[in-house]
Amino acid sequence: MKRILAVATLALSLAACDAAVLSGGSEDDALDIPEVADGDISQETMVDLTRELSSDEFEGRMPGTEGGRMTVDLLKTRFEEAGLEPGNNGSWVQDVPLVEITGSDFAPLSITGGDASGMAFEYGKDWVGVSYRETPRTRINDSELVFVGYGINAPERDWNDYEGLDMEGKTAVILVNDPDFDSEDLEGTFNGKAMTYYGRWTYKFEEAARQGAAAALIIHETEPASYGWNVVESSWSGPQAYPQRGEDAPAPTKMNGWIQNGVAEQIFEAAGKDLGELKDAAKKQGFKAVALGLDASTSFENESREYMSQNVIGILPGTKRPGEYVLHTAHWDHLGRCKPADDGDDICNGAVDNATGTAALVALAEAHAKAGAADRSLVFLAVTAEEQGLLGSSYYAQNPVFPLDQTVGGVNMDAFTIAGPSRDVTVVGPGKSQLDEFLEAALEADGRVATPNPSPEAGYYYRSDHFPFAKQGVPMLYIDGGEDLVEGGREAGEAVSKDYRDNRYHGPKDEFDENWDWSGVMADLQLYYRLGRMMAMSTSWPNWVEGDEFRSIRDESCAATNEGC
Ligand SMILES: [Zn+2]
Repeated sequence: MKRILAVATLALSLAACDAAVLSGGSEDDALDIPEVADGDISQETMVDLTRELSSDEFEGRMPGTEGGRMTVDLLKTRFEEAGLEPGNNGSWVQDVPLVEITGSDFAPLSITGGDASGMAFEYGKDWVGVSYRETPRTRINDSELVFVGYGINAPERDWNDYEGLDMEGKTAVILVNDPDFDSEDLEGTFNGKAMTYYGRWTYKFEEAARQGAAAALIIHETEPASYGWNVVESSWSGPQAYPQRGEDAPAPTKMNGWIQNGVAEQIFEAAGKDLGELKDAAKKQGFKAVALGLDASTSFENESREYMSQNVIGILPGTKRPGEYVLHTAHWDHLGRCKPADDGDDICNGAVDNATGTAALVALAEAHAKAGAADRSLVFLAVTAEEQGLLGSSYYAQNPVFPLDQTVGGVNMDAFTIAGPSRDVTVVGPGKSQLDEFLEAALEADGRVATPNPSPEAGYYYRSDHFPFAKQGVPMLYIDGGEDLVEGGREAGEAVSKDYRDNRYHGPKDEFDENWDWSGVMADLQLYYRLGRMMAMSTSWPNWVEGDEFRSIRDESCAATNEGC
C-alpha cells in the first residue's frame, strides 16, 4: 500500500528547524512514500557481531592488517548467509588501492618580494604542508601568492573567488569556513552560521586544484575552523593516506597546507596589505582576488607506501526495477593499535565506532532478505578506511559499482548510541534533500521525532561516509542517536553522549560491554530498515532542495542519463 505525500502539506517536525528550508514544492513535487511493515531484525545478530568485531582478535580492524582481513572475510560470510548476492560483478569486494605518504626534511616556508626579504617560517610551529602526489620530492619554487578570499566557486550562489584568474603555478592563500560563518542565524548566501561544503578544507584544496594552482595554503583561525592549531599540526604531520589516483584523474596541487593566522598577518604586511580589511572584503559578493606581489618557496621529501584494502558489497536485487539502487552504508574499519590507556591496553576496539554500524548492515541485510526482495535493489556497502579520511567511500563514489545516476539515495550508519529508547533521533544536515520527507514518514510510523544537530557550524554533514556520495550528487541521510531518552529525558541522554566522548571515543575503552541496553539501538535499526525499505518500494527520485550545494551536480548527472534519475 502506498500513500502519496505532497511536499507542501508536510508539517516538518524538525523541532528547531525552519520548515521553509525544504523545497516549497507544487503538486508536481509529490513524492511516493510507501508505507512499510516493521522489519524482523535480529538483536542476536546485532549483539553477537558487535561483540565479535570489537574483540581483541580483530585488533581494532585497521585496513592493511590481519584484523582488517578478518573483518572483510566475516562480512562476506555473513552477507552470504543473510541471503545477499555478491555486489561487484560476482565478487563480494571492491579493491580499494590506498597510498600512504609521509613527508620529511621540510625546508622553511620562505617568502620573497615586497618587504619580505629573508622572511622564513618554521615547519610545524608556523605552517604545515603535505603532498597529495606520489613523488619523492616536493618543490615549490617562487610561486606567486594570490589571496583568493574563501576560495569558493559556487555558480548557484553567484559567487566566484577565482573570477578571471589564471592560477597556473601560483599558490592560493585561502580563508577557512565560508563568508557568513559568523552570523547568528541560518540565513544568508552560505546558510548563515551553518557550514556549507564550501567551508570545509577538503573543498578549498579541491577547488584550488581545479583552478590549476601549484599549491594552496589555508589561513588557520580557531573559531571558524572549530579547532585549534594543535589539531592542524598533529593531523597534518606524519603519514597521510589517500586512495591511489587513477590514470585519468585530475592532478591535485603539489602541496596543500595551513599557515597560522599570525604568519598570514606578517606576510600580508610585507605585501603592504591589511589582512583584516581583506577578510572583510572577502565576505562580500563580488570580492576580487588580490595578487600579493610575493613569492613562496619550500621543499620536502616524501616516502610512499601502497597497499590494498576492500569495500564489501552485497546486493538484494530488486524485483520490479533492479537497475535502481538504494544504499545502506557503514564503515567497517577502525584505528587498530593505538595510544595505550593507563592499564596498557593498546587496542582501539571500536565497539561503538563502528562495530555497531557494521553489525547493523548485516542485521538489516537479514531483515530485508526475510521480507523478500523489494521493487528496487538494496545495496549493503561496508566501506574501508573511514578513519583515515573517508577513503573507502570516496573511492567507491569515484569508481561506482552501480551508476550514481541510477542510485536513488541512501542512509549511512556510524556509531550507534547505546542507551535505552529515545523519543528523537539527531539529524545531521537537515533540510538538504527530499529524503527528509522519507525520514519524516519513517519517524511518524514509529512515533518518534527529529532533532536537528545542535552545532551546524561544525559541518558534521561533511565528515562521514555518506558525504562522498552527496558530493557526487546522490542524496544521502545522516542520522545519529537521539538524546531525549524515554527514561531520564535529555539530561540522561546528554550524559550518555558525554561519557562516550570523554572516555571512549577513538580510545582503547570503546569496548563491548555485556551489560549494554540494546533497546534504543533496536529502535534506531527499525528506523534505518524502514527508510531503506521505503526508498526501495518508492517510484520517486528524491532530489536536493533548490539552492543546495549538491543540487546542480545531481541535476546535471540526471540530465545526462536515459534511465535512472
Ligand atoms: Zn565512525
